[in-house]
Amino acid sequence: MSRRAETGIVVVGGGMVGATAALALARAGFGVRLLDAGAPPQRPGAELDLRVVALAPSSARLLDDLGVWTQIDAARVCAYRAMHVWDAGGGAELDFDAALLDAQCLGWIVENRLLSWVLWQALAAAGVRVHSAVTARSCVAADGQARIELDDGESLRARLVLAADGRDSPLRRAAGIDVDGRDYGQRAVVAHLHCERPHRHTAWQRFLDTGPLALLPLADGRVSLVWSLPDAEAQRMLALDDAAFARAVGAASDFRLGALRPASPRAAFPLKLALARRFAAPRLALLGDAAHAVHPLAGQGVNLGLRDVRELVDVLRAAHARGQDIGAEPVLARYARRRRSGDARDAYAFDAIERLFKQRAPAVVAARTLGMRVIQRTPALKRLLAGHAAGWPV
Ligand SMILES: Cc1cc2nc3c(=O)[nH]c(=O)nc-3n(C[C@H](O)[C@H](O)[C@H](O)COP(=O)(O)OP(=O)(O)OC[C@H]3O[C@@H](n4cnc5c(N)ncnc54)[C@H](O)[C@@H]3O)c2cc1C
Repeated sequence: MSRRAETGIVVVGGGMVGATAALALARAGFGVRLLDAGAPPQRPGAELDLRVVALAPSSARLLDDLGVWTQIDAARVCAYRAMHVWDAGGGAELDFDAALLDAQCLGWIVENRLLSWVLWQALAAAGVRVHSAVTARSCVAADGQARIELDDGESLRARLVLAADGRDSPLRRAAGIDVDGRDYGQRAVVAHLHCERPHRHTAWQRFLDTGPLALLPLADGRVSLVWSLPDAEAQRMLALDDAAFARAVGAASDFRLGALRPASPRAAFPLKLALARRFAAPRLALLGDAAHAVHPLAGQGVNLGLRDVRELVDVLRAAHARGQDIGAEPVLARYARRRRSGDARDAYAFDAIERLFKQRAPAVVAARTLGMRVIQRTPALKRLLAGHAAGWPV
């Protein structure tokens, strides 16, 4: 590999967002390299991956436009047609159904590893030069180009660098971009479980004052747990034996799906809100979790990242068609302007929901119960909320 050669665009980070960006930009005709510090994603085994995401229709549409949606093994994907949300404190309940959107489903539960693997398979065919086990340290703009310094002492040049290097983004830090946000002091405990009652292709979410618990339907009839808990409590859940863990999840989920039986190892992921103050710096644009890491309660992290990808490709394609330098400040400012306000609004909305459901004060519980009941009885409001989650323009 000749690393010193200049490439149009270098994407740093080959997670779901960076890999999609690299693929979309290559398909749009740009010369693209993708660097990732880790190993390439492994071909999915017979057992479903512990990490799954709820993909919104906007994400599925983008992946379909890129020709990868049909490459995902449909037998491993679960479409969810409804969502049921309820409040442990106030007792109010909310139902969302795909019919609200005149759609077949609200979204799809897909394994992270399966999606990553399918994306990486498509990269080479699209002409993306992929380098795994390569760590970028910083990106410096000078003389109309960006220079990326790598950990092994080598460097790369490009017109534009995209930082899709995750929530702790080393490139964002090196560029001196601060983040706003907070550490939730929570971890999301994840596991797959068998359930006594059928999941009915419904995403179940109960808000407890310790954090939200979601049971997402899987294609094989099991459910995938995402349970946000204070750090110490999450550690305790990881240490329980299977029977005690099943009882704890069952009680916390109100036994809506009957008795539960663990069917996988467990893991826990620390949760933070981290919103970059700027989405661009000279010859550098941020996307995905590098730009906005959000609480998983709305299942929107990847979906927001894929909306960044769509916007960035549109902006760069238009700039290129006008003969503009794709790494020029006004071009990146256009992308940053279009994405940052929407991403910030969503990140803080999820944060506000997280705070609201932790409150135990009777007046607050009464107010949120009233609010949920109003939403439940107002189809136009429900359609607005479901449409926003689906990625409809607002
Ligand atoms: C429990 C849980 C449940 C979630 N559920 C959902 C959901 O249902 N729906 C949803 O949309 N989102 C969900 N999310 C959020 C989602 O997982 C993230 O938003 C998403 O994974 C971010 O993808 P990314 O590609 O931006 O970053 P990452 O997945 O963090 O990828 C970053 C990549 O950059 C690489 N990298 C890092 N530093 C460097 C470097 N210096 N040089 C080169 N490479 C580097 C890493 O190796 C990695 O591959 C959930 C998150 C959690 C924790």
